[in-house]
Amino acid sequence: MKLFIATLSTETNTFCTMPTAMSGFQEYFLRHGTATQEPPNLMTEALHVWREKAEALDWQVVESLTAIAEPAGPTTRACYDALSGEILSDLADCGGADIILLQLHGAMVSEHIEDCEGDILARVRAQCPDATVGVSLDLHSHLTDKMLEASDLIVHFREYPHDDASACATELFDLAQRTYAGEITPRMAFFDTRMVNLYLTKAGAMKEFVAEMAATQTNPGVLSVSLSHGFPWADVKDVGARMLVITDDHPDMAALLAEWLGRRFFDLREDVTTDYLPIRDALNKVGTRPGLCVLADMGDNSGGGAPGDATHVLEAMLARGLTNFASGLFWDPGVVRICQDAGVGSRLTVRLGGKTGVVSGNPIDLNVTVMGIETGLGQHLGTGLEPMGTVVWLRLKGEIDLLVNDLRVQVYHPEAFEQVGIRLAEKSVVVVKSLFHFYGPFSQISDHIFQVASPGGTQPAFQNIALTKRKLPYWPAVAQPFADPARDLDAPKSSRSTANSVQ
Ligand SMILES: [Zn+2]
Repeated sequence: MKLFIATLSTETNTFCTMPTAMSGFQEYFLRHGTATQEPPNLMTEALHVWREKAEALDWQVVESLTAIAEPAGPTTRACYDALSGEILSDLADCGGADIILLQLHGAMVSEHIEDCEGDILARVRAQCPDATVGVSLDLHSHLTDKMLEASDLIVHFREYPHDDASACATELFDLAQRTYAGEITPRMAFFDTRMVNLYLTKAGAMKEFVAEMAATQTNPGVLSVSLSHGFPWADVKDVGARMLVITDDHPDMAALLAEWLGRRFFDLREDVTTDYLPIRDALNKVGTRPGLCVLADMGDNSGGGAPGDATHVLEAMLARGLTNFASGLFWDPGVVRICQDAGVGSRLTVRLGGKTGVVSGNPIDLNVTVMGIETGLGQHLGTGLEPMGTVVWLRLKGEIDLLVNDLRVQVYHPEAFEQVGIRLAEKSVVVVKSLFHFYGPFSQISDHIFQVASPGGTQPAFQNIALTKRKLPYWPAVAQPFADPARDLDAPKSSRSTANSVQ
């Protein structure tokens, strides 16, 4: 018995002007068959689980590429061809496999292919027509017909923040094992919910919906239920949330259940989404309660493909005269280099941020002291440790602490600040460039957290994102996207209001 495993993961913000090239993978995580020899991170957890379970069964494990890049613009053709080609050539070199399990992102776009995951799966299927092919996807993905046609099993993360990667990997392994053994015959179907938004799963109606999906999965004949949340900042035809159901040889039941749950999700749309605060309203909250206030600069979340050098929030805070705060991570390799040359303890003027494009706002000239420089630090995302590059701690006006680095990465954990010496307990406010992955660890040190809809590359103005390729209407761009059945007649197969069933 032979198991083949690999990871290729980046989330593409098609509006981001910075291409994703090989350097983006090299600086974040790129291993050629050796990823499981290191501690896991979010996107390698699955490989660890699959290897461990397979080796316990005395299966042969062939580990191929693991390539992870921080989200940015479309991947260059040369980079995509090289990385996807490495997986396919490794698969050929080992003579194929009985079971092929891949951890992919689901929202990767290259400059020449809109559905990279569908492309990889189709090529894998063409090369190994008889293998059992399973894929684990980040829930911020675009679920497509091509993915369903080329694979046997698809499971999405169900939690955002994504703290269930290991559980999803275990589920997928077990289903693949049973499929290969002939115990089950997976039939997949999805339903387009006609929603483009973000859904945080740790509280309220969305937490209850995740529990409802889990309960549905226990029904006889149902193998797996998961929701592709979609990734909003991508102008691709399959953008939006899609409900996926896998049954045991009941394609009609899969389609009906996917539609039933998908329409139920649509009915909950006002309850499972959140209104985010404009900068001015968020700053009005500062100081209204004792203790540390956490502001999430979600419009400049590099984890969603924003540059990470936007100054909108910092500019507004300085204009208000706020002084006792910390803010980061500003991606500014030029400032990092200048500070490295100047050295710790230096006082100098730097032009911070605002460099990548219009969404980054204005650069700000600051008189700062270089308080610290660290290389090789990491910050926890769940149990995994994510890299931070070289981090520079700058102080201005005696009380303002800024964290600048040369690796685009969002803030996941208070240790991003504290391990360089910034004491958040002494601050009134900490601003984190992140959307939601920071939430769990920061809620341990503050119950006063606000998400700020700053006008960066991931501004959460879902009704205004220029989605030109999606054929069908969606909420919140229109109030009732299911109200015009005439438009359905022109819809592509995968986007019909009736669920698409693939055997
Ligand atoms: Zn995600």
